[in-house]
Amino acid sequence: MAKSVSLHTLGCKLNYSETSTLAGKFNSNGFELKEYGEKSDIFVLNTCSVTDNADKECRQIIRSVLNKNPITYIIVTGCYAQLQPNEIAEIHGVDLVLGANEKFRLFDYVNDFEKKELSCVFTSPSNEITNLDYAYSSDVEFRTRAFLKIQDGCDYNCSFCTIPLARGKSRSLPLNTVIENAKKLLELGYKEIVLTGVNTGDYKYYNGSAKPEKLIDILYDLEKLNIPRIRISSIEPNLLTDEIINLVSSSNNFCKHFHIPLQSGDPETLKLMRRRYNRDMYKELIEKINNKIPGAGIGADVIIGFPGETDERFSNTLKFLKELNVSYLHVFSYSERRNTYAVTLPGRVDINIRKQRSKVLRELSNSKRLKFYQKNSENIQNVLFESVKEDGYIYGFTDNYIKVRTKYKEGIENNILPFKITESENYLYAEGDIFNNKPPKNLSYENIQTTERITL
Ligand code: SF4
Repeated sequence: MAKSVSLHTLGCKLNYSETSTLAGKFNSNGFELKEYGEKSDIFVLNTCSVTDNADKECRQIIRSVLNKNPITYIIVTGCYAQLQPNEIAEIHGVDLVLGANEKFRLFDYVNDFEKKELSCVFTSPSNEITNLDYAYSSDVEFRTRAFLKIQDGCDYNCSFCTIPLARGKSRSLPLNTVIENAKKLLELGYKEIVLTGVNTGDYKYYNGSAKPEKLIDILYDLEKLNIPRIRISSIEPNLLTDEIINLVSSSNNFCKHFHIPLQSGDPETLKLMRRRYNRDMYKELIEKINNKIPGAGIGADVIIGFPGETDERFSNTLKFLKELNVSYLHVFSYSERRNTYAVTLPGRVDINIRKQRSKVLRELSNSKRLKFYQKNSENIQNVLFESVKEDGYIYGFTDNYIKVRTKYKEGIENNILPFKITESENYLYAEGDIFNNKPPKNLSYENIQTTERITL
């Protein structure tokens, strides 16, 4: 009888896409795939190292899997496994720890999946990480939106970040491979492709010439495929060029949405973080996008509680963010990471202060999101409906990243339909109706037909 395997992911979209690749490898090797939480012969945990909770989380998850089936063969991989392999190997019940270079070659390291007394560890030093496997994942059970990996690793040296140590130097998949993979996803029926990487904007592939292919070259080629929606997941501000903004502005295929990490609105903190821009450059970029693409959805990452963040420095960030025309924030609380420059800096911020500041910025984010939703009310926008039905509702996203919901009607999932926001009292989602009068421009024939098929 075929052995069964279940997998679980912690962390970012890139990790999710890589877990899907691992699942595919098990599947093609004849293993039965089970849902996380179901009893299985093998369990794979793909970890994250962004917070210092990794160890705790890892232990809890492994314990709960072993409670269900004490003979489950446990494999741990991902960023935490690369950074602290021995710490993981000491967790009772772990059989195999695989680093960044080894995770996709797991069948080279194990074949019987029988539990032994001791756990095995296979990792390479971070300066030798070279693996770059194709990966994509779907975020819902229906094939609606796929996260397509185009790049891995990072050459930047932000003082708080361990990702370059966990994932190695920046490397990119060949442009042809990216385009072939995108075509496959289109054939599989995906309506939206989200380009994913550690530092996506740093995509660079030397195809035998001195001048590398860049992200903009991928974008031009993807546009020709006529994918209904292409979204750029997150891009460093210094790498978001005018050419990319112009293409997104003029194209019907690219989502009018950017996620641009800011991290701090205080000049000194930005310097200590070793970011590659200052706040004036960031502000100009946001103004440029808003002028060029009115109504664009813009998200910003912010870290609070970085060493040396006094009340004054925090209020600089708060003031800067209040005036910044972005639609939402992703707020992270600074977490001390081993082997980073930031952890050596003076001025540790008390945990309770970090919590308070985090709350302030989350509230600011909610009010920005609500304002953005309200600004978009009464507009007709295209929404990609996902097959998530809760209490008779279906949810979806506009191309500028407003989460909307409407009463579920058969046939609307995995379709892009014209939609009008009628109520936006809530920052979690806006409510509205599918617009069944005249479809707006830029809808494909397929979508217009679907619109007419629905009787409201
Ligand atoms: S850009 Fe900075 S924060 Fe982002 S992965 Fe690279 S080092 Fe880390």
